[in-house]
Amino acid sequence: MSTDQPSTEAAAPTPAPVRFRDDVTVELVKHSASDTDVLWAARVSTAGEQSLEELTKDPDRSKGLINYLVRDRHGSPFEHNSMTFFVSAPIFVFREFMRHRAGWSYNEESGRYRELQPVFYVPGEERKLVQQGRPGKYEFVRGSAEQREAALAVMAESYERSYAAYQELLAAGVAREVARSTLPVGLFSSMYATCNARSLMHFLGLRTQHELARVPSFPQREIEMVGELMEAEWAKLMPLTHAAFNANGRVAP
Ligand SMILES: Cc1cc2nc3c(=O)[nH]c(=O)nc-3n(C[C@H](O)[C@H](O)[C@H](O)COP(=O)(O)OP(=O)(O)OC[C@H]3O[C@@H](n4cnc5c(N)ncnc54)[C@H](O)[C@@H]3O)c2cc1C
Repeated sequence: MSTDQPSTEAAAPTPAPVRFRDDVTVELVKHSASDTDVLWAARVSTAGEQSLEELTKDPDRSKGLINYLVRDRHGSPFEHNSMTFFVSAPIFVFREFMRHRAGWSYNEESGRYRELQPVFYVPGEERKLVQQGRPGKYEFVRGSAEQREAALAVMAESYERSYAAYQELLAAGVAREVARSTLPVGLFSSMYATCNARSLMHFLGLRTQHELARVPSFPQREIEMVGELMEAEWAKLMPLTHAAFNANGRVAP
């Protein structure tokens, strides 16, 4: 076989270098959500159809009504609104996130239709690394400098090795959907998540820790980081509902 023919095969693109992130990101990409939506839905019970101007006439009454609805768990008026977030976080966060079924819609990036990018999660400086105590009654503490160093080094090495294995299989012609089995749950993914205030409150009650929570929860820190960013966006859109949620022990109506 002649060897002086120019190759017709394109050179394989060099894979992007492995990147490490210790944060998550949440962007509010679309919304139709305000306290007025709650009032409008609630007042149909007593006043029938109303103009939006009527609803904003008496701010104290509006605040009182929203607080009453949260306190007495009249939940459906909090469903007539919508928020879509673009979330970038490790796959292990998405596994927990997608357990929230009611009032949530999800679309996640595909590992079948596109090559997954080498972006991996490592714990940040503030992330407590060591769990102490028995199941059901434990706390997290910071851990020693050696433990932090070991965590970062071992994770980096493992991530690099698994991404190299992924690339090796792709280069050998193995399909993306098969090759991705080599990748760990620390890989970053992205999704659109759409919810309403009621489903968001339920999520926040379970996935954040807060001094005002009447029923404490013990979420993994990384999903809590996503929850905190979502909550900050939601609080700007629906300040009265957010305040009522806090005032009533952060229990979703
Ligand atoms: C700290 C923490 C630890 C966890 N640990 C684990 C774990 O170790 N293993 C594990 O598998 N999961 C675990 N989970 C997930 C948990 O069990 C729930 O799946 C998750 O929190 C979603 O809650 P949810 O079902 O209330 O939410 P959603 O699915 O959004 O449901 C909202 C509400 O709708 C109602 N509802 C929804 N579906 C049904 C149904 N089929 N039947 C009756 N009522 C329904 C319920 O009232 C429910 O509270 C954990 C969650 C937390 C917060």
